[in-house]
Amino acid sequence: MDNLRENCGIAGVYGNNRAAEMLYLSLFSLQHRGQESCGIVVSDGKKIGLKRGMGTVPQVFQEGKIDYLKGSFGIGHVRYSTTGSSSLKNVQPFFAEYRGKSYAISHNGNLVNSVFLREELEEKGSIFQTSLDTEVLMHLITMSRKTSFQEKLTDALSRLKGAFSLLIFIPDGLVAVKDPWGFRPLCLGKIDGGYVIASESCAFDLIGARYIRELSAGEILTIDSKGFRSSFLPAAKDTARCIFEFIYFARPDSTVFGKSVYNVRKKLGERLADEFPFDGDIVVPMPDSGNVAALGFSQKRSIPFEMGIVRNHYIGRTFIQPFQTSREMGVRIKLNPIREVVGGKKVIVVEDSIVRGTTSRLRIRNLREAGAKKIYMAVSCPPIRYPCFYGIDFPSEKELIASREPVERIAQTIGVDGLYYLSLDGMLSATGLPKEEFCTACFTGNYKVRA
Ligand code: SF4
Repeated sequence: MDNLRENCGIAGVYGNNRAAEMLYLSLFSLQHRGQESCGIVVSDGKKIGLKRGMGTVPQVFQEGKIDYLKGSFGIGHVRYSTTGSSSLKNVQPFFAEYRGKSYAISHNGNLVNSVFLREELEEKGSIFQTSLDTEVLMHLITMSRKTSFQEKLTDALSRLKGAFSLLIFIPDGLVAVKDPWGFRPLCLGKIDGGYVIASESCAFDLIGARYIRELSAGEILTIDSKGFRSSFLPAAKDTARCIFEFIYFARPDSTVFGKSVYNVRKKLGERLADEFPFDGDIVVPMPDSGNVAALGFSQKRSIPFEMGIVRNHYIGRTFIQPFQTSREMGVRIKLNPIREVVGGKKVIVVEDSIVRGTTSRLRIRNLREAGAKKIYMAVSCPPIRYPCFYGIDFPSEKELIASREPVERIAQTIGVDGLYYLSLDGMLSATGLPKEEFCTACFTGNYKVRA
């Protein structure tokens, strides 16, 4: 399909005797961030339980039968591969033994200097089992000349460039790390005297944990038998939160970077309504990712909101067709316009983003066949013109329609009567956070961190 793929989701629990159950539920809440593979590692301080596999959380953990994973702390991971091939050996948490002790790492994001670091490590004799960025960090930790684990970790982390929100399983606890640029979200919650850490706060709601705060850029938060403490990596010149978390990736019921995703997404719709140069009879979201922005748009312009396109929720990555179908049929199976809603109307369709444009074209054609008189598209972010090197699976520059064609041509290609993208300033103001603290590289080509 034509969507951007989420990168990964990570979760950790400390101080709860049902750590595996808490992790299972947390990962289930983060499933939208990766459906290709998942894993959990837990410990009771003596024994370690580890389970990883290909598939979604319920597939790998067979409908919650996880009694054999006993422990009071642990970490988990859901993955869609952005670096490292899609195979069992690349499933996280990445697990390693060092000096008779066990360590594991869950990583969300992409390093931009991992190739360089890997070559350097190989020259010094390191042998790699996987193609994961995460393994590079493990080698850097073990090869550091510092003495304590904490010093070795800080030394290793300071060599990394790019996006890394990490959870590290150590013999008596957890370490949570956010890169100095703050690319990916990572938040801390509290549950029954213990702690939980996750990519998004929606993971806390399901397990009854209370959101405390977002980790700071460059923070190294250790939770172990000695307590709870933070240290910091050297500050980066820039902050580079991924704006796409608000536009598309994160769930609307999450808080990321300290802000409600729902509220920011609705504001994106309101800003879009302010700027949008066309008029229509109804506002229709491209479900589900366009829903909240469309609501904001509709309320701001006082144009009725209608669910004119219905999404089939039972088609996912595991959908197996008994026969070959065209791409067009695939789009129709997933999203179906309602003739009685859109027929004879001037429809404003609110979409979160346009990537290649191929799916948009088919969706618009279906809408026209259902009788829409005019179709205007409102996109809640600027044109995507550049690839992402920080952990989101973007197509190459030449596959991105907006890097090849001006907006008027894109409108023709996808078959709409009018197309408008939210301005960069409109998008950044909708967040309520300092504009300069976001990464906007996929829109502007301004990559704040390079190898
Ligand atoms: S390039 Fe785009 S998707 Fe990638 S981190 Fe930056 S804002 Fe996010």
